[in-house]
Amino acid sequence: MKQVNYDLLIIGGGFAGSTAAWHLANKGLKILLIDSKPWSRIGDKPCGDAVSKEHFDNLGMPYPEGEQLEQKIEGIKLYSPDMSTEWTVKGEGFEINAPAYTQRLLKEAQDRGVEVMDLTTAMKPIFQDGYVKGAVIFDRRKEEQIEVNAKIVIEATGYSRSFRSKLPQELPVAEDMDEKDSDIAYREVAYTRSDIEEPTYLKIFINQTTSPGGYWWYFPKGKDKVNIGLGIQGGMGYPSIYTFYEKYWKDYGADVDRSRMIVKGGALVPTRRPLDTLVWNGVIVIGDSGYTANPVHGGGKGSAMISGFCAARAVLNAFEKGDFSANSLWETNICYNDRYGAKQASLELFRRFLQKLSDDDINYGMRKKVIREEDLLEASTTGDLQLSVADKAIRVIAGIGRPSLLYKLKNVAQYMKDVKALYKNYPTSPEGLGQWRSNVRQLISEFDKVVSK
Ligand SMILES: Cc1cc2nc3c(=O)[nH]c(=O)nc-3n(C[C@H](O)[C@H](O)[C@H](O)COP(=O)(O)OP(=O)(O)OC[C@H]3O[C@@H](n4cnc5c(N)ncnc54)[C@H](O)[C@@H]3O)c2cc1C
Repeated sequence: MKQVNYDLLIIGGGFAGSTAAWHLANKGLKILLIDSKPWSRIGDKPCGDAVSKEHFDNLGMPYPEGEQLEQKIEGIKLYSPDMSTEWTVKGEGFEINAPAYTQRLLKEAQDRGVEVMDLTTAMKPIFQDGYVKGAVIFDRRKEEQIEVNAKIVIEATGYSRSFRSKLPQELPVAEDMDEKDSDIAYREVAYTRSDIEEPTYLKIFINQTTSPGGYWWYFPKGKDKVNIGLGIQGGMGYPSIYTFYEKYWKDYGADVDRSRMIVKGGALVPTRRPLDTLVWNGVIVIGDSGYTANPVHGGGKGSAMISGFCAARAVLNAFEKGDFSANSLWETNICYNDRYGAKQASLELFRRFLQKLSDDDINYGMRKKVIREEDLLEASTTGDLQLSVADKAIRVIAGIGRPSLLYKLKNVAQYMKDVKALYKNYPTSPEGLGQWRSNVRQLISEFDKVVSK
């Protein structure tokens, strides 16, 4: 078999992999990025395509522009199940053309020295002496297998986890997940019959009947084009996602002209805390493969970028030290948990709580402001659910109709704080991982008992 040597192999050119490549290009490393898809389809996956502006700012990445940008966003409108309450949460963002933006990042990385091979799949890891040392890849153009030896492999294979799932199962980065910690989602992009009233606002509809454990969305892509879809909780034995779509799409997108559909499709998204460790000897896992999506809304593009950024920093430092061990790559975890992972852990608990609420509870909670827009914004930005003292009286009065809801909410807020604190004290080296992991699991199992009461 043909053999080639690289410093770094990146498997997967989605938002996570292309971000890592973009940050690492032109830094003196010999890098190969591979993706199974043809170049023109890289970045093309079922998605709502909404990304908050802050991610680009925080990571020093270019804003989408030209054909990469479909709509500038000013905020989100959130609707209660009975549609009687509408909340507006302000926040700038973009409705993007994901393939165009991803391919732009890849092209810029390629122009600065990263080799990109499309139509090329990682078949299996090369694993020796406890280290990931590369991958056997298959080049579909030449129909040949190639052994790629690399000091570090970045696995960015999305929800498929198609590389790390073939590693020895005892490695912490091979950690599997419970299907209930995922969302099954489906969307269609189509033209509308008339101009969209407020194209700068994303609309989200919460309803446990039409989207159990998830929500419906209506995301404008310009004045007469929309991305409309829904997510439902995985592992629950619900009917197929298409059944829900066909039954309820008119409730949320009466103006959608399905005869002028541009694209449709479904996929899964992880809705949990990140992998306990994103790294091991010679390997870093990023993006959906590392469970980096937001547990409450399932948005994963911004956090895939954060994980790619953190991985890139760790790779550069590892090459400076000439050390590719888990210990050396560990700073990926510290960087990621500090920027996003701690919030994710806290929001995983919030998501578990929300999924257990009935439509009645949500209608009541939104109408009476047991939780308010500001709380939601705060929770989604920082992962903190602050139930401030000044508002206590109002909340107690609001909660009188549903004392158990208010009681649970207070408990949830405390557990969210506790799990976030655990993540803020993430171990500084792999030695501390075992004890820390058991503390996290214990806290989550206690939380589940309290919330299911
Ligand atoms: C319906 C739906 C709606 C969503 N809406 C939003 C939203 O509005 N906003 C948001 O931010 N997020 C949203 N998400 C989540 C978001 O799409 C993902 O979190 C994000 O795209 C993950 O990026 P990634 O790079 O990790 O993975 P991916 O984009 O899946 O990229 C993985 C890449 O790896 C390649 N690959 C896989 N295995 C191999 C292999 N063995 N060899 C070579 N290549 C391989 C694939 O071809 C692919 O290109 C949504 C998800 C779904 C399913």
